[in-house]
Amino acid sequence: MPSRGLVLLWPAGSVLPKNNYFRQEAGMIKRRGTTKMGNPDWASYTLGVFICLSCSGIHRNIPHLSKVKSVRLDEWDGAQVEFMASTGNTAMRAKYESEIPPFYYKPTFSDCLLLREQWIRAKYERKEFIYIEKQEPYSAGYREGFLWKRGRDNGQFLTRKFVLSEREGALKYYNKNDAKDPKAIMKIEHLNATFQPGKIGNPHGLQITYLKDNSTRNIFIYHEDGKEMVDWFNAIRAARFHYLQVAFPGASNADLVPKLSRNYLKEGYMEKTGPKQTEGFKKRWFTMDDRRLMYFKDPLDAFARGEVFIGSKENSYKVLEGLPPPTQGNHWPHGITIVTPDRKFLFACETETEQQEWISAFQKVIGRPMLPQEYAVEAHFKHKP
Ligand SMILES: [Zn+2]
Repeated sequence: MPSRGLVLLWPAGSVLPKNNYFRQEAGMIKRRGTTKMGNPDWASYTLGVFICLSCSGIHRNIPHLSKVKSVRLDEWDGAQVEFMASTGNTAMRAKYESEIPPFYYKPTFSDCLLLREQWIRAKYERKEFIYIEKQEPYSAGYREGFLWKRGRDNGQFLTRKFVLSEREGALKYYNKNDAKDPKAIMKIEHLNATFQPGKIGNPHGLQITYLKDNSTRNIFIYHEDGKEMVDWFNAIRAARFHYLQVAFPGASNADLVPKLSRNYLKEGYMEKTGPKQTEGFKKRWFTMDDRRLMYFKDPLDAFARGEVFIGSKENSYKVLEGLPPPTQGNHWPHGITIVTPDRKFLFACETETEQQEWISAFQKVIGRPMLPQEYAVEAHFKHKP
């Protein structure tokens, strides 16, 4: 007998979907995340898992693997309901994620489509976390191949050979196939990788940052094949994981995993003044990377024009809404003042939403006490010319 919604799974009289069974099944997803998580109102009735609306779209595009229905709106027959009751997210996680490497990036609701699609394919289609031999592309400690890299000066993407070596602790790339010396050697120690499809203008676009003479340097790369690109990303995370394991012996995986790669707290345009605050406001692209606020003339610039360290409230850093009264010259109306021990930084945002997002990003780092190693980073910034 067909039933509306997964009604047979719920105790009689409960209101869909606010019932215990559903809550329990969705529990792992709910507990892990915040309000940002999607509601698992959908289900894959071939895989036996509950998913959110956004993921249901990805599942729908892999029809040989997954078939989806709305938990609330679609008709479910008895066999399908029984199958869901016998499977569910917890059981399927135990099956399909039994051998997941600690460094492997598990995407969340807010991650880009590429990461979420490749996660679904890696987990269910390629079964990479059941058969460890399938993890070789990112777990072997060495990887080489060709990637499209954006040219620093002309913005043109050209194919370049990249070599990642855990043993050498470096990612290198070569301008010519037969070149003996790499164009750049990026130390694993200071490397970060973050997907930036919107900014780079490619659905597989990856931004790599590294430090050169204590300044941040950006490169932008992609591969046409989604699996290849995500394999590179996880290979970089694996190399960083092993580097950190050696650098911090005895540290737990739970301590190390959040340090493998960082997404930016916030990016976007703001106007800024110079140090005298009389130079007029100029529109710049800003990136908030942990405690490093960087600004660029163009979002895809190789080097930041400037970097500001944002400490914590305990050592006199503050973020204020608005600009000090005599300030003039901003075209955008929504001001932000950052107070540091040395000086004030004045910014202006185009919209109130932008202003509030920036303020909450600044508050996040200012509200967090500084770690001992962050004092060293702060000192480095102060001694910069
Ligand atoms: Zn989802």
